[in-house]
Amino acid sequence: MVRVTYSEGVRDATPRRHVGEGRKYFFFEKKKQKTFALWCPRQRAKVFGFFFSKKNGFLFLLTPDITPLMSPMTDLRGVGAAVGALLARVTGGTRVLDLLFHVPESFVDRRARPTIRGAVRGQVATLAVEVVRHEAPAREKQPWRVVVTDGTGFAELVFFKPQRAQALVPGTKLLVSGKLESFGDRLTIPHPDHIVPAGQPERIPALEPVWPLTAGLFPSQIRAAMVQALALIPSLPEWHDPALMRREQWPGFAEALRALHTPVDYPAPKHRARLAYDELLAHQVAMAWVRHREKKRPGRSLTGTGVLRAEALRRFGHELTRSQVGALAEIDADMAGPGRMLRLLQGDVGSGKTLVAAMAMLRAVESGAQAALMAPTETLARQHYRTLEAICPVPVALLVGAVKGAARRSVLLGLAAGRVGIVVGTHALFQEGVTYKDLGLAVIDEQHRFGVDQRLSMGGKGAAADVLVMTATPIPRTLLLTQWGEMAVSRLLEKPAGRTPIKTTLHSLSQIGEVVEAMARALDRGERIFWVCPMVSESEVLDVAAAEDRYVTLRRRFGNRVGIAHGQQDSAVREASLAAFARGETQLLVATTVIEVGVDVPEASVMVVDHADRFGLAQLHQLRGRVGRGAAASFCLLLHDDGLSETARRRLVLLRDTDDGFAIADEDFRIRGGGDMLGKRQSGQPGWRLADPVEHEGLLHMASKDAAVLLQKDPKLESLRGEAVRVLLRLFERGAAVRTLHAG
Ligand code: ADP
Ligand code: MG
Repeated sequence: MVRVTYSEGVRDATPRRHVGEGRKYFFFEKKKQKTFALWCPRQRAKVFGFFFSKKNGFLFLLTPDITPLMSPMTDLRGVGAAVGALLARVTGGTRVLDLLFHVPESFVDRRARPTIRGAVRGQVATLAVEVVRHEAPAREKQPWRVVVTDGTGFAELVFFKPQRAQALVPGTKLLVSGKLESFGDRLTIPHPDHIVPAGQPERIPALEPVWPLTAGLFPSQIRAAMVQALALIPSLPEWHDPALMRREQWPGFAEALRALHTPVDYPAPKHRARLAYDELLAHQVAMAWVRHREKKRPGRSLTGTGVLRAEALRRFGHELTRSQVGALAEIDADMAGPGRMLRLLQGDVGSGKTLVAAMAMLRAVESGAQAALMAPTETLARQHYRTLEAICPVPVALLVGAVKGAARRSVLLGLAAGRVGIVVGTHALFQEGVTYKDLGLAVIDEQHRFGVDQRLSMGGKGAAADVLVMTATPIPRTLLLTQWGEMAVSRLLEKPAGRTPIKTTLHSLSQIGEVVEAMARALDRGERIFWVCPMVSESEVLDVAAAEDRYVTLRRRFGNRVGIAHGQQDSAVREASLAAFARGETQLLVATTVIEVGVDVPEASVMVVDHADRFGLAQLHQLRGRVGRGAAASFCLLLHDDGLSETARRRLVLLRDTDDGFAIADEDFRIRGGGDMLGKRQSGQPGWRLADPVEHEGLLHMASKDAAVLLQKDPKLESLRGEAVRVLLRLFERGAAVRTLHAG
């Protein structure tokens, strides 16, 4: 007997069926209510059910109620819209869980309780004192001093805000915590961190976490919110293997978070390790699950005749490079095999991935199926469209947001009827309302911008469609496992012949005058120049301001030979600006990183990067790849701030001295760790919150094996551990991978 709380009341019910030993599934009579919770006495925990329709009722899967963790932080006391916005900025999310994942960088130890006489200067300590008198400043701009004593001597609390000092009434007994300093021979505490009544020692944290902050946000606000957030963690099943837990002596999930956010002693490495492992495992399980599902799912065999390919190559006018031949052989084997292809084609900018994709798509068409190519932006989609249209001897269609009305209907009809063999577009390709007669291959370009979940969703248009992902991001080997664990990899290591190497030089911004004069000469020779402006901030608006400033100065010098393109422009205006540059009507294009992902102007031979030190190395390498596409000698000028740190200089020198994207990625990874590479900024997907693939490389490999074994034993995640792992996946938002379990 279990107690069911329906949206309109409570009733006791007997499970129709109890599935499996210790399993938590129950069947109920058909009921219309959409929300109900269930109290299962044997679980000793309130659990929350979700369900889906079955012939004979609902399947009730009991899971812990994690909704409080998924609720907005602004539900917490003391977190209004303003504080909420600041917390969202530092935590990168808006939910209570995002706050919990905001782990401290370090801790301030306030446990030292010396007397005034015994106090050590330079230490952080907490003193028990009585207020003696105030010394108002003699002159403006001088601080207030409040003299205190503990019977062993006198000390001074120093304030620059008089209000705080004035609140301290002589005779009151206080606990004061802060950094001890000296002023002459007197002990001082300049603007103490904590001042509380003597009777309330619990208000001073013994070990105070130092959370990353942002302007306007105070530690006390994070602390107050964090205490509430910790209390909202429900009782959760343990998702890790018991043997592993014993061996590592790991604490539980909630205990680890408490140890970090409200420590009574310094957290041990195992607290961080456990949480890092949680995140790594969630990610590895999601990917292993996809791989497992894809392997199991029957694919189809696409073999092709080679006729269309041969004709396309004839139109293209060049032989395939050795690398292209190799990659294509791997792709062909996958496509011909009975399973479904899930392959990543990794190749530096300009290595000729598009041609490989075209060959693969033509193979699908030769076998009577259709192929789709998805690009991250309209600009890129149009560019691929032009390339494919020129060489493919079959109807190629373009489907982007700007294709509307009759033109759009005609593309949609063509796809549904099978008349269109190859379609190129943005994510519009996989939206509702787009049906394919028989999608055999989906190619996705520059996929580092999409997450695992999106990779999954696109497969839905053709149940057995092969998937080929192209990326120019030279992901280091370690990260391939974290980012692309579910995919097989082909690499294009060699570039098509006939490309001249790009000469890269470094220039301090104080020499910008010389750079501008060099550009003047290049413009007079008829060359075309990209001038990319910095990521000055997280804010696109500020980036644009920097680009516009540069545009104004360059325009003053070079007149209407200068154009501008950035993300805040109306897309028609931006497209027009890019087109004018492509046609050579403008010769110098000032741009933000909108051009980063691939604007193909073969005539462009100079790339100037303003404030190059503010870009990631991989990104700079991508930008540099925008030139050197034609036969002319090409140049990349990296402008940097004057005072460059040693690391920053080493990174730019590395870029200057090598053109091998893989070497750059590995080296950059070593110089500054992997965090940034996987960070939100570059990947456009949730980055790592608790794990650092570099620091936790050992754990990463453990998690990868753990996930594989788990899914081998329990492919549907139905065991007790499997169900606990589902909770983990939801907490780390890798749930979409597994939600499809129920559907398929
Ligand atoms: P990627 O997409 O990898 O950045 P592209 O496919 O755009 O590279 O190719 C870069 C340039 O090299 C294009 O101008 C393309 O036409 C050319 N190219 C590609 N493959 C070959 C080849 N086998 N021989 C000669 N040129 C090639
Ligand atoms: Mg490309």
